[in-house]
Amino acid sequence: MSDESGEADRVRDEGFDDFLDAIESGEGFYLECPEGHGSLPPRRVCPHCGATDLEHVALPETGEIETYTTVHVAAPEFADDAPYVTAVADFGAVRLTGQLRELDAGELDVGTEVTVGIGESETADERVLAFRPR
Ligand SMILES: [Zn+2]
Repeated sequence: MSDESGEADRVRDEGFDDFLDAIESGEGFYLECPEGHGSLPPRRVCPHCGATDLEHVALPETGEIETYTTVHVAAPEFADDAPYVTAVADFGAVRLTGQLRELDAGELDVGTEVTVGIGESETADERVLAFRPR
């Protein structure tokens, strides 16, 4: 994995980076099949029923925290971020996993409404999904 331009040395993960770009510009979306199953890009096939006819649907502005966990000992790429809170939020047809920003676990409950945006991992300078209080 070398990059002769000397810029980013990581490979762009097409579908997921497109998804992060969309979230970053406030145009988050998910994929919906004709049966109404939601899934997250990148996908060509509905993971629930195998339909290949997936449409882009705008992500709701807010989701509700479903579960959360404080990470004290992180994987190497997130070591400098620890401790941080990672959460799963329910955005209706889809669930997103991200890090919590501007909120501590103590201020958080199942059902807390959050918006999703982009945060940076302090360790690897990678973009991550970040939840913020509404
Ligand atoms: Zn489906």
